[in-house]
Amino acid sequence: MHSSLTLTESQATSMIAHAQHALPNEACGLLGGKSGHVSTVYPGTNSEHSPIRYLLDPIDQFNAMKTIDQSGEDLIGIFHSHPKGVAIPSEIDITQAYYPKATYVILARHNEKDWYMRAYYLVEGHINEVRIRRLNTQHTILEIDNRTN
Ligand SMILES: [Zn+2]
Repeated sequence: MHSSLTLTESQATSMIAHAQHALPNEACGLLGGKSGHVSTVYPGTNSEHSPIRYLLDPIDQFNAMKTIDQSGEDLIGIFHSHPKGVAIPSEIDITQAYYPKATYVILARHNEKDWYMRAYYLVEGHINEVRIRRLNTQHTILEIDNRTN
């Protein structure tokens, strides 16, 4: 587990665009990366097509997991949106959190089009908030360079 989840601004923007596009329903997807750093956003279809719950389409999940595996990433996050609610895990989110190592990111709206996000570890019914760090692309490139040296 990592105490923070690091995203670039463009990754955050693509998650928000996916959430906005799915309105009025919840959106969902996966985050691939390493050590708390997101490298790829995998938007998926909410096969529930519901404004209050989500189930990532099994084919989208299979394809994303395959790509994550092949590119040497880990599944580090699962994101979904709360179009009408706040960015706090619901009872269903807590009971259906099957990936204790993943960070659960929830997007919610300040208003019609401004979204914010919060992240959590959901383990055995406990909610632990994880800090989200948003970096611009330049910083991310520098961090990746440092890690490979
Ligand atoms: Zn939820």
